[in-house]
Amino acid sequence: MTSAAAKPTPEVTDELRPFFAAAREGRLVVQQCRGCGRRRFPPREICSHCLGRQADWVASSGRGTIFSFNVMHQVYHPGFAAEVPYAVVLVELEDGGRMIANLVDCPLERLRIGLPVEVVFEARGPEVSLPQFRPAAA
Ligand SMILES: [Zn+2]
Repeated sequence: MTSAAAKPTPEVTDELRPFFAAAREGRLVVQQCRGCGRRRFPPREICSHCLGRQADWVASSGRGTIFSFNVMHQVYHPGFAAEVPYAVVLVELEDGGRMIANLVDCPLERLRIGLPVEVVFEARGPEVSLPQFRPAAA
């Protein structure tokens, strides 16, 4: 008898601790530069627009559109073996920032650039819940 392999869980680094703390509560946060106000994800020490070094974590609506995507047909990790083919999407958040995540609850035939999506969270253990995106409710 075999059991399904667990999906990998990202490491909670000091830099990402505020992000994962919010995600555990079902909230999506991204960094916002104090200098120019632009939002970004993943977090960076320096703003690529104004070179400012000060930033805050701010709430995102979790809504956006698919900016780009890739469909995985190969099993790169046994934890995803039961899900191939599945989509990995780059989401442009409506209030700023872009995020890579899995697309869920969406037949691949519906997948397209510009598809409106909303965040949902998948628990991957006591410390980590991961943002995923699904087609936005009409
Ligand atoms: Zn900036």
